[in-house]
Amino acid sequence: MKIAIAGAGMGGLTAAMCLHRAGFDVEVFEAVSELRPLGVGINIQAGAVRILSGLGLEPALAATGIETRELRYANRHGQTIWADPRGRHAGLPWPQFSIHRGELQMILFDAAQRMLGPDRIKFSRRIADFEQRGSKVFARFCDRHGKTVEEIQSDILIGADGIHSAVRAHFYPNEGPPKWQGILMWRGVTVGKPYLGGATMVQAGHHTQKFVCYPISRAYAESGEALINWICDLYMGASATPPREDWNKPGKLEDFLPRYAGWSFGWLDVPDVIRNAHTILEFPMVDRDPLPRWSHGRITLLGDAAHPMYPIGSNGASQSIIDGEAITQELLAGDDPEKALQRYEQRRLPPMARIVESNRRKGIDVMLDLVEQRAPQGFSNLETVLPADELERIVGDYKKLAAQDRETLMRLAGHHQ
Ligand SMILES: Cc1cc2nc3c(=O)[nH]c(=O)nc-3n(C[C@H](O)[C@H](O)[C@H](O)COP(=O)(O)OP(=O)(O)OC[C@H]3O[C@@H](n4cnc5c(N)ncnc54)[C@H](O)[C@@H]3O)c2cc1C
Repeated sequence: MKIAIAGAGMGGLTAAMCLHRAGFDVEVFEAVSELRPLGVGINIQAGAVRILSGLGLEPALAATGIETRELRYANRHGQTIWADPRGRHAGLPWPQFSIHRGELQMILFDAAQRMLGPDRIKFSRRIADFEQRGSKVFARFCDRHGKTVEEIQSDILIGADGIHSAVRAHFYPNEGPPKWQGILMWRGVTVGKPYLGGATMVQAGHHTQKFVCYPISRAYAESGEALINWICDLYMGASATPPREDWNKPGKLEDFLPRYAGWSFGWLDVPDVIRNAHTILEFPMVDRDPLPRWSHGRITLLGDAAHPMYPIGSNGASQSIIDGEAITQELLAGDDPEKALQRYEQRRLPPMARIVESNRRKGIDVMLDLVEQRAPQGFSNLETVLPADELERIVGDYKKLAAQDRETLMRLAGHHQ
């Protein structure tokens, strides 16, 4: 069975490897002319690392990124609200990794090229149009000038072409741009001193003003430093005009640094980290409404094309990786591809819609807001501000929703072995 994938991001490349390993004939068509290590940091949760480990990639991830030891939530004074061990440190059989997105994409690309063969991932091929005729999908790919470069015929087409998916737009032509609720993100990378043991992801502040950071480079850690990926989320007001999202738009310090004056935690000086950045990018926090359907006959969506979500709870890349395994298993489970794509949708669409919706309602960040509302000047005893049972309920509900709880992770692993 021949499968064409549009998009060589995390989702497209992982799906390509899972499908190839299962015996399918896979080709990937990527719009850009070459992959460059773009972006800043990204997290791969243990459930997604399980899949990448199965593809033999754990050594490369461990050699490049940081095995995340802890996720710590803090108020804007740096006081800990909740600290959660991650991956192997939480007793799971797989680690969690914090890594540079560009490096992760290159690891996936190199591995996919080795597995599929060097000519199976093709560049300068933007999907232009496609249609299903009978049991075949016909697709046309263009270069960036709109010139047709290749026309193909396949049994299945997967749109893994990101938040501005052309495959999605074909089925939902009136959807319009991604949705924005007024939060802008400035993302940067700074070389600094390791903090909190050198492998801790921190989420500090509250929903309308947050600072997130985590180290992402093994090489820097080995030389006694930390390459700190950081994100400042600021609410700009409901009336602010949504900016055009561009992953590579440079950010300006004066637009956000003054708001973080005084955010010194003892173990980390936030203004210092921001000021010393060698890259700053600006991006609006956007998502899209959950769709009623992803699969249309022999064509379906995967990753951000299917379920773009706010980057809360580190789910974007992880869930796109999990999609690749799910679609492979459903295609292996029966010989009717259309039914398999339906099953893939039934399995993945409802939980992804729930994460999109929960993230709009602040997701797990709700704990930060409760502490900010109840104790804006800080606390001497967290229990009087956010009792342990309330905190555990918030955390437990979100982990279940994102399938990050131990029980779901182990069930998924067992089910899929
Ligand atoms: C340049 C870039 C930088 C990013 N930086 C970050 C970051 O720093 N931190 C973070 O958390 N997330 C970042 N993301 C988003 C993150 O990669 C995704 O949210 C997540 O990994 C889901 O992956 P995906 O494969 O579904 O989508 P993406 O990773 O967005 O991959 C989609 C791929 O499809 C290609 N494509 C687009 N249109 C077409 C088309 N018409 N035909 C064929 N191919 C097409 C794109 O070039 C891209 O390679 C970035 C995405 C991009 C594209």
